[in-house]
Amino acid sequence: MQIKIKLTLLYTLLVAALLSAFALTVYFTSAETREDEYFKRLKQQASTKASLLLDTKIEPHVLQLIYKKSPNALFQEEMAIYDTAFNLLYHDAVEVDKVKETKGMIDSIVAMKEIHFYLNNLQVVGFLYNHDNKHYVITAAANDEYGYAKLNALRNTLIIVLAVSIIITFFAGRFLARQSLQPVTVIVDKVKNITATNLDLRINEGNRKDEIASLAITFNEMLNRLENSFDSQKQFVSNISHEIRTPLTAMLAELQLTSKKERSIEEYKKANEHIISDIKNLVRLSNSLLDFAKASYDQTEISFKEIRIDEVLLDARNDVLHNQPAYKVKIMFEKETESDRSVSVEGNEYLLKTAFINLMENGCKFSSGNEVTVSISFDDKNVIINFSDNGIGINEEDLANIFTPFYRGKNKMFAGGNGIGLPLTLKIITLHNGKISVSSQKNEGTTFTIQLPHLQSL
Ligand code: ADP
Repeated sequence: MQIKIKLTLLYTLLVAALLSAFALTVYFTSAETREDEYFKRLKQQASTKASLLLDTKIEPHVLQLIYKKSPNALFQEEMAIYDTAFNLLYHDAVEVDKVKETKGMIDSIVAMKEIHFYLNNLQVVGFLYNHDNKHYVITAAANDEYGYAKLNALRNTLIIVLAVSIIITFFAGRFLARQSLQPVTVIVDKVKNITATNLDLRINEGNRKDEIASLAITFNEMLNRLENSFDSQKQFVSNISHEIRTPLTAMLAELQLTSKKERSIEEYKKANEHIISDIKNLVRLSNSLLDFAKASYDQTEISFKEIRIDEVLLDARNDVLHNQPAYKVKIMFEKETESDRSVSVEGNEYLLKTAFINLMENGCKFSSGNEVTVSISFDDKNVIINFSDNGIGINEEDLANIFTPFYRGKNKMFAGGNGIGLPLTLKIITLHNGKISVSSQKNEGTTFTIQLPHLQSL
C-alpha cells in the first residue's frame, strides 16, 4: 500500500475515532439528562395534582375530567394516589391503568421513599408524599414524547455531522498526504533520469531544512561522490591509454625507420636499445598498475603478517641496486631499539617493499648523485621512515598534486617515469593505516616521511 493512502486512512481513522467518541459522549449525556429531567418533571406534576386534591380539595372527578379532556391525553402523565395500606385514593383513569400497582410496589416505595423505573416505553416514578402528617404513595407514569423526539433529532444531526466530517477528513487527509509527499515524487521522477551519462544532474534541495530536503542533500552528496569517482575512473583509463600508446608509437616509428632500408649493425643495435627501453617502460607500467589494483583491494583480501621494517627496507634496497647498480641507498637506524616490536608492523611484505622501492628510486633518480638516505626511527605509536635526497626538489605548486595518478612534476624532464609510483605508495601506506608526508626545497632536496603503527602500539 502506498504511504499516501496509508497516511490518509490512518488520519481519517484517527479523526473518525475522536469524533465518534465526542458524538457518543454528547448523545449519552443528553440521554441521561433527558431521563433525569423527565423523572423530576413527572414527580413535580404529580405533586401539584396531589396538592390540588389534598390541599385545595378539588373534587377527584373534576381532575379526572381535566385529564380525559386534555388534547394530548395519550402522552400526559397518569397518576395515582394510595395510602400506605395500598388503598386507592385517586386515579386519573382506572380504565387505562398503565402502571398496575401492586402491594409489593407500594411497600418498596414506602421503604425507599422514591423509585424510578421503566414500563415498556413509559417512565414511572413512585414516591412518598406528606400531607398533614399523613403519608401517601403517589405513582406517575408517562412517555417523554418530546424528550425522545429531541434526542432522536440530536442523534440524527450527530450521525450526519460525523459522516460529513469523516468524508471531509478523508479528502483533506489525502490532499495533505499528497502535498507532503509531492517532493518525494519529484525526487523519484528526477532520479529516474539520472544515468551514468548524466551524473551531473542534481535534485532540487528545496528549503534545505526539512526531512525531504535532507534526503535530497544526502542524495546529491552521493551523486557528487559517484561523479567524482566516475570522472577519476575515466581520467585514469585515458591516462593509461596515453601511457601505453606513447612507447608503442615510439617503437613502431623506430621499427618502421630501420626497416625502410638496409642499416649498419650499429644502427640496428641502437634501435634495439631504444625498443628494449620502451618495452621496459611498458613492463614497469603494467607492473605498477597491477600493484595499484592490488593495493586498491579491500584490506581483508590482502594477507597481512608481522614484518620487520628494516628487513623489508634492505630487501627493497637490494632490488633497487639490482636494477640500477649506479644508485646509492644508505639505510641507518636513528635510535637503538630495545624491542623488535617497535620496528615491526602488521603488513603485506610485497606491497610495503613496492612502496619503499618507489621512494628509493625517486630519491636516486631526481638527484644528480643518485643517492638516497633512509633513516628508521620510532615513537610510542609508529615506526617512522624518512627517505631523504639532496636532489632537485619539487616545485611548490607540484607538491599538492604529486600523489594524483599519472601526475608528473615540472622536474619530470630530469628523469623518466609514469606518475604511478607516489599514488601507489600512498595507497599502500593508507592500506596499512599509516601516513605519508613530504617536504621539499627546490635544488636542496626532498624528504618523504612514512609513519606506520608498530606492533608495540597494537
Ligand atoms: P614518476 O617518478 O614516475 O614521475 P611518481 O608518482 O613516483 O612518478 O612521482 C610523481 C612526481 O613527483 C614526479 O614526476 C616528480 O615530479 C615528483 N617527485 C617524486 N619524488 C621526487 C623526489 N625525490 N625529488 C623530486 N621530485 C620528486
